[in-house]
Formats: sequence, structure tokens, C-alpha cells
Amino acid sequence: MMVETTTKRGERLPQTDHAPTSFRHLAPPIYVLALSALATLGFGACAIVLGSRPVGHRWPELVLFMALIVVCEARPIMFARSSGVQEIVASTAFTFALFLTFGPVLAMLAQAVASLYGDLFAKKTPIKTIFNFSQYWVAWSAATVTFVLIEGRHGFGEVIGESWRWNVAVLATAATYFIVNNILVGTAIGLASKTPVRSVVWSLLTREAVSDCVLLAFAPVVVIVANRGLLFLPLLLMPVYTVYRTARISAEKEHQALHDPLTDLPNRASFDDSLQRRAAQDRRDAPRAAVLLIDLDRFKDVNDTLGHQAGDDLLRQIGPRLQTVVPSGATISRFGGDEFAVLLPDIVDDTDAHALALRISQSIEEPFRVDGFNLEVQASIGVALFPDHGTLSDELIKRADIAMYVAKRLQTGAEVYDPEQDHHSTRRLELVSELRKAIVEGEIILYYQPKLDLATGEVHSAEALVRWMHPRLGLVPPSEFVPVAEHTGLIRPLTSYVLNAAVRQAAAWRDAGREIAVAVNLSARNLHDGGIITEVPVNLSRFGLPSRLLRLEITESSIMADPARARKSLEALHDMGVGLSIDDFGTGYSSLAYLQNLPVSEIKIDRSFVMNLLENQADQAIVRSTIELAKNLGLTSTAEGVETEAALAWLRRTGCDQVQGYHVARPMTAESMNRWLDEREGRVHVPLALANELSHFSFSPGGAGC
Ligand code: C2E
Ligand code: CA
Ligand code: CA
Repeated sequence: MMVETTTKRGERLPQTDHAPTSFRHLAPPIYVLALSALATLGFGACAIVLGSRPVGHRWPELVLFMALIVVCEARPIMFARSSGVQEIVASTAFTFALFLTFGPVLAMLAQAVASLYGDLFAKKTPIKTIFNFSQYWVAWSAATVTFVLIEGRHGFGEVIGESWRWNVAVLATAATYFIVNNILVGTAIGLASKTPVRSVVWSLLTREAVSDCVLLAFAPVVVIVANRGLLFLPLLLMPVYTVYRTARISAEKEHQALHDPLTDLPNRASFDDSLQRRAAQDRRDAPRAAVLLIDLDRFKDVNDTLGHQAGDDLLRQIGPRLQTVVPSGATISRFGGDEFAVLLPDIVDDTDAHALALRISQSIEEPFRVDGFNLEVQASIGVALFPDHGTLSDELIKRADIAMYVAKRLQTGAEVYDPEQDHHSTRRLELVSELRKAIVEGEIILYYQPKLDLATGEVHSAEALVRWMHPRLGLVPPSEFVPVAEHTGLIRPLTSYVLNAAVRQAAAWRDAGREIAVAVNLSARNLHDGGIITEVPVNLSRFGLPSRLLRLEITESSIMADPARARKSLEALHDMGVGLSIDDFGTGYSSLAYLQNLPVSEIKIDRSFVMNLLENQADQAIVRSTIELAKNLGLTSTAEGVETEAALAWLRRTGCDQVQGYHVARPMTAESMNRWLDEREGRVHVPLALANELSHFSFSPGGAGC
């Protein structure tokens, strides 16, 4: 199980919880060589120009500083970061104090001794050891230049506060050290991990600012305390210890958030993170990565016959077993239940990935010792390749899942995803066979998500979103069965059902004194087979709903699938007085020139442009111009996927008409929506969070699924 560690000293190393630390990324030797030459030069120049300060009676202070540097170097502070655990050495504070008191030459020597000792302690390779003290020496040499330029050659050893010039020199020196150190470390990480150097350096500079500044700012305090009396100096270890403890606790918390408690393997969030970081790397040597989804066959039998304890015991043995077959650098993760995943970051092609998956499957077939029994377990593994089968985590996992079901059905142990499988995967086929029955038996239900009018703060309409209350699988999101329905012709009865239920709900709202229009999503098929044109008036008259309270959402791409036919259907619907919206606007390739000739009255800006609006200039430009365009064409603009107050405020400022998204409300049952509306109108007090909870539907932020 791997936690990728970025050390302050420029190494990225995966740490396995069981195996000893092994190094994956190494800075290129030529870089280390150049750095060590520069370091020697810097040290030599300092020694010749400045010499060492006379120590005289202050040798106990020097010895104490050195001892503190060595102690801190051998005991790095571990900080939790989302990208892994990061190591920081607190020695910087004491080295800087020594630098100010005794000059750079002694500081560099002390730092070199401590760094060598620390690396020996941690059993690091010679090249890493050389890199470590070289980068220290280069950074301290640069810091020396800054100090001498401001304060002159004789400024070392002054007491703090005696001259403003000295204070400025201290600040500038600290800044120089911080910048140079992070540039050197960032370059090493960038070169080693084949990630753009500039972005690594920038992220280090922003990320390290707080911890580095705290340590550097601590140095003058150390100097003052040392001046007052040496006996107080060890007391300074107390704040360092506090930092150490806090960092420990935060590292533990981060560990818990990123690991599965039963097996201590990285969890899904952590897996996504590793995948994202791998995706950001430019790896010409191994352009592909593979996502393997592993599902144990008949795990339920183990639980049922031997009990949950035995089941847990088996699950705990899977990680270490996988560890014996996967190459170093792989991430092994548990997604929950009996589902595990492996990320293989360096894959040549699908044959390579398939062979590895088979090896894993064979390794699981070796008996496990559980509760005194030898248990034989089998696994089915699905493989999806990055970037061939997708670049996003959700996409890759979904595809690996499809391949896994094929492997299960064919009993082959492992299968690589094949786009053909998508429509034929077992789960999907199972779903199709059950969907028809589900429609008849009322397992299909509708959730509603309000659209908020930004000008008035009122809710005039809500989108109907279908869900399947599956007796065995629980709540199934539309992404799982709408595409299946589209491919099998079941979309027609499904849409009829949704249309009927949504119109009935809008009529019920109207009867209760609320004018809320419902928006129903149409698939391309609905639009092109023309059936909808007869169904809409039938439903409206059945429930006595005015056509202005029904709206239909059609995606850009379904219109463009057959523009001529789509236009005919849309015109017929428009003539009935039904409102029409273009859904997921911006994701298709249609020309707006074409769309503006259609009788639509609303444009829904796709949530992919809205979700990261504030961070992404390009998204802002797209959204702003879409809003403007809608305004010029006399259309209502609605932004989907509004997740924050800041995004909502931006959209309001930019002139967007309506918003929809988790920040306003999540999709919820009609009953919850009633309470939510009551609460808004001040009738009953139901906290918004409760209203959301009442929807019994939990979403992962950033994904549209459930
Ligand atoms: P859509 O029409 O774009 O629906 C909006 C989706 O975004 C919904 O997912 C909704 O839950 C989600 N969403 C809303 N606010 C936010 C937010 O702030 N952040 C994020 N990340 N997501 C948000 P849902 O309900 O899973 O629906 C997915 C898609 O399934 C819909 O996308 C639509 O294309 C399709 N669909 C849903 N119901 C029906 C239906 O009755 N008929 C047809 N043909 N398709 C449907
Ligand atoms: Ca929609
Ligand atoms: Ca949409």
C-alpha cells in the first residue's frame, strides 16, 4: 500500500506500510552532479571571502545549535497533504540561527554533518545524500550573497534589533533561502517525476510558504534566546515538539480520511487522487496506466458460512497478497465490500495489463488461511486503460467495472475493456431485463430539482430527474439505466412514465396553489420517433395542466443527431405551448446559428463549465458569452451545477437568469420539495440540510451521479 511522500529535500518516495522504504523517482544524476559542483563552489567562495567567525567563549552555544540541528534532521516532521505525506525538517530554524550568529561557513558545515547523519539514519542512497546537502549548500550560499550585499561582510553575529539594516538583511536572506531551496527541490521533483518543473516549483513555493516561513521566522527568536542565556535554548524544543505533535495528528487525520479502516488500504478518494496525479504526468517511456477493478467471487458465501469476522479477516489478507504480485509504484486500494482496485502507473499496452491482471487473479486463487480453514477464493478483474478508455477516474472505473462483469460472466479471471462490451455488459443486460417490470411495478420514481430565478429569488420550475428504486441494488442513478433504455427501445415506455408522473405532480402543485412548471428530459429517440407529440397533449388534458407548466429539455447532441426531424418535433411541441430548453449547452458541436432558429426559450449551460467557474478563466469566458448570447436572442439562461455561493454570486453579477445546483438544492422527492418550498415561504421551519437529507440521496460532489 503506497503513500507517496514528497520530502522537503526533494525526493518522492512511495512508502509501503510493510516493506521498507523504496525509492521510485530519482533526480537525474547530471542534475545532482551539477548541483554538487555549484555547492562546492559556493562553500569555497564563502570560506575564502568570509572565513569562519571566531567562536571564542561561545563554543557551548555553537555545540548546542549543532546538536539541535542534528536532532531535527534525524527526526523529520511529517505533514499531511492531500498528495501524500510530506516531510519537513525543522533544522532550518537552528541552521539559520547558527548562520546569523557564527556565519555561513559554520552553518553550512553543521548542516552538512546533520544532513549526512540524518540520511545515514534513514538509510538513503548516496545520490540522495549528495543531493540533500548540495541543495542546502547552494541555497545557503545564495542566502549569504543576499546578506552580504545588504549588511556587508561583518554583519554576522550582531544582536537583533540593533539596526534596521540588519533586520532587512535577515528578512531578505530568509526569502532568498526559501526561494532558492524550493526551486532546487522543485526542479529535482519535476525532472524525476516528469512533471513540468515550473508547475512543481510554483506549487512548492505556495504550499511551503507557511511551514518554511514559520521555521525561518523562528531563527531570530532562537538567536535572542541564545543571547539571553544558553540554558533556555533547549526550551525552544518545546514549540518544535508542539508543531511536531500537531503535524502528527493532522497526518493521522489525513490518513484516516484517505484509508479504508478495515484494511488500511487507500480508499476511493485516495485512489482518484493517485490517478489524477498519474494523469498529469507526461510519461513517454510508459504512456499508459491501467485501472484494475477486482471483485471477489462468492465472497458473500464466506460471510454467510463462516461469519463476518472471517470475512473481514479474508479482506485484510487481500492487500498484502496483491502486494506480492504488483510492480512497485502500483496503488492498491479498497473501494468497499469485496471490491478492490489497483492502479498500475507504467503500462505498455493492453496485453501487458491483461497479463498482470491474470497474474493477480492467479495469486488470489492460492488458498487463504482464515479461521483455521484453507479458503479458496476466486476473483474477476476488469481492466481499463488510461488514456485509451478515458482520462477521468469515474470514467475509467466505470469501464473497468463493465470489463469486470464480462470477466465474471465468462469466468475468464480478467478482461480488458472493449467498447463493444458497453452495451452488452451483464449488469446492463440484467438491468434491461428488469427495467420493463420496474416501470410497471412502480419502482421508477421522480426526484425534483428546483431552478431558482436570480432576479426574484423565486422558484417557478423544477426539473424531473428519474431514479430507480431497485429492490436489490438500491437507488440506481439514471446514468446506469437511461443509456441502456436508449439502446433497447425501452426509452419510450420510460419517458411515457416520467412524463405522466411529472405532469401529475405539476397538477398537484397547482391544485395546492403553487404554479411550478416541471421540466422533463427527453432522449434523442423520443424526439425523433414522434411519439412524444401525441403523448404530451394526452397527459396535459388528463391532469388538466396548462401547457405553459410543462417544459421539455433536449440536449444539443440529440437535436444534431437529426436536425430536420428534431425541428419538426420541436415546432409541433412549441405550437402546443410547451416550453423547450436546450440541455447541456456547450458540450455538443452544434452551431448556435442553427439553434437560434429553433423554437426554444431556455438554454441550460452545462455543469462542466459551471462547477469550476471561479478557478477557470476559460469557463468564465464561455459562460459569460453564453449568457450574453441568450440575452440577445431573448432566451432564458440557466446555469446547472451551481455548487457554491461564490459561483451563484458570479452568475448573478454576469446577468444569468436562473440557477440550478446543489447549492440551491439537491434533487429531492416531491414530498421533500414541498417541505423545502414551505420552508422558503416561511410556512414550516425545515432546515435546508434536512430537506436535502430527506431526499435520501447522497451525491459525490463533482460528479453528477449518486
Ligand atoms: P441532466 O439533465 O444534465 O441533469 C442534471 C444532473 O446534474 C442530475 O443528475 C443532477 O442530479 C445533477 N446535478 C444537479 N445539480 C448539481 C450540482 O450542483 N453538482 C453536480 N455535480 N451535479 C448536479 P442525475 O439526476 O444523475 O441525472 C443525470 C442525467 O440523466 C441527466 O442529466 C439526464 O441527462 C439524464 N436523465 C435524468 N432523468 C431523465 C429522464 O427522465 N429521462 C431522460 N431521458 N434522461 C434523464
Ligand atoms: Ca436536464
Ligand atoms: Ca444538463
